[in-house]
Amino acid sequence: MSGAVTVPAGLLDAIAAQARRDAPREVCGWLAGADGAVRDFYPVPNAARRPEREFLMEPQAQIDSLRRIREAGLTVLGTYHSHPKSPPVPSERDLGLSLYPELLHLIFSVAYEEFGLWRITESARRRVALAPEAQDALGLREEKSRTRGASGDAKGRQGKLRGRRGGFSRRADPQT
Ligand SMILES: [Zn+2]
Repeated sequence: MSGAVTVPAGLLDAIAAQARRDAPREVCGWLAGADGAVRDFYPVPNAARRPEREFLMEPQAQIDSLRRIREAGLTVLGTYHSHPKSPPVPSERDLGLSLYPELLHLIFSVAYEEFGLWRITESARRRVALAPEAQDALGLREEKSRTRGASGDAKGRQGKLRGRRGGFSRRADPQT
């Protein structure tokens, strides 16, 4: 998949609303779709010990949501979570999501009112463009310049990633 990723604007609004409602706790869940286009999101409770600073998908709810996604005829295209206070840029801990380099990672910053969509690998975190219609709906285009240069220093962190736990439980494989 290359180029801008289509995410329905209504879905972004709903994720933003959930993130605002649960702040200062982070929210998390799956992005599901078909043919590379995101069509729906599936919230999963955040079971992290410090949910205001990190997220960990509650294992049983994670498994249940993956089944619902399958039953809906969709596949997991990525994850989403919120940053109550920081910009929508993958944190140190989020770099553990590089365990799933095929997935998209959508982050909504409550404080900055801004989305970031990412692919995260051990060697890089790369911002992925949201399709223009979604950007227009949220006024994101004007804010683009605020977040440039976010992918600079991921390389030096490779060594730290080893053995790091991802944001979601590894009991369930997101590809199934
Ligand atoms: Zn994060």
